[in-house]
Amino acid sequence: MKLTYGGRTDVGRVRTRNEDALLERPERALFAVADGMGGHAAGDIASRMAVDVLDEATLHPADDVAGQLEQAVRAGHGAILKAARADSDLDGMGTTLTAVRLLEESQEWLVAHVGDSRAYLWRDGDLRQLTRDQTWVQDQVDAGQLNEAQARTHPFSAMLTCALGIGDVDLDVQLIRESARHGDLMLLCSDGLTARLQDSDLRPLLASTDDLVEMAGAMVDRANEVGGPDNITVCLVRAAD
Ligand code: CA
Repeated sequence: MKLTYGGRTDVGRVRTRNEDALLERPERALFAVADGMGGHAAGDIASRMAVDVLDEATLHPADDVAGQLEQAVRAGHGAILKAARADSDLDGMGTTLTAVRLLEESQEWLVAHVGDSRAYLWRDGDLRQLTRDQTWVQDQVDAGQLNEAQARTHPFSAMLTCALGIGDVDLDVQLIRESARHGDLMLLCSDGLTARLQDSDLRPLLASTDDLVEMAGAMVDRANEVGGPDNITVCLVRAAD
């Protein structure tokens, strides 16, 4: 399976720093988005560390690709914790991480995920969120205490229940496998895209062009048009025969 891709990361309209990180490694069919948090410059450092460690830890072919990807996420968590312990300015830094690999042999998408960035699959005009947000509001939605609209506007909407660099080593890494089909389009994004834009806003953009760099730019522009309160990162990957 061949792939095409396009990505863009943007500071948004309100923030002065971009704490998101984007990783594009088409030669390994590996892509990732990370959304950092923390005082000083620590958010930038955490998200960059997460994608750099992921990049390095997946350099070599592995028999167990899913195990390798999960370990790479855990290694990033460990590296961030270690750096924060060594420098009080970095104390409390953390990051989300959502990564995807397109597996050539098994013709599958493999997603690894921690936090509230997201992976969506756009197939035959249908948009499906593959990842589950690790947030307090998502827990409330799952328990029937809040609906989706209430969760989106809730004052605690950004409160994560799990992130790299936060807490002890007990990291809940979601691993998702999905068979890949010709024409599939994978969307990875930080919450700067999805906090303000809903599926109904994204669908027309996903259908708008075959040029994924242009599409990523259009998504970022749209998020900025509705206020751009947060950093916005979009990574699009299409599978083709
Ligand atoms: Ca964010």
